[in-house]
Formats: sequence, C-alpha cells, structure tokens
Amino acid sequence: MSAFELRAEHRPAEIGRQVRCWHIAQARHPSGLGRRLLTPCADALPITAAASITPQLRCGGCWRLHGHATALAQGRTGG
Ligand SMILES: [Zn+2]
Repeated sequence: MSAFELRAEHRPAEIGRQVRCWHIAQARHPSGLGRRLLTPCADALPITAAASITPQLRCGGCWRLHGHATALAQGRTGG
C-alpha cells in the first residue's frame, strides 16, 4: 500500500548503463527522498524490493528517511 518506489541512479557504462545506487522516491515524483533529482527514465522497482538491494547500492539518506517515514506511518514513538 506504499506510495514509494525504488529509483535507480545510473552511470554510463561502455555498454548500456550500470546502477550506481538506488534511491527511494514517492511514486511519480521526480526526486528521491534525499531531494536528489532522478532521471525520469531510470529503472524503477517496487518498494517491496528494498530489502533485497545490496547495501553498498543503497542511498543511505533515502533509506534512513524512508525508515523514519514508515515508523511514523505505523504510529511508533520514540526511537
Ligand atoms: Zn537517495
């Protein structure tokens, strides 16, 4: 039920492109939670795939902010 999705930040590769890291963005918003503007043609994944992203490829800022937003949505306090 989340309105979030994963959005890739790419870097040019000799053939095609490679994923530099994954950001978390609100669906249909042009920028990630960390305010980084993402290209509209970037690869996207459902937010449910977040747990399977290699830690080195995660945007720390986006993951932290999303965790915070999720905690708020679930009504948790403290932390
Ligand atoms: Zn990010």
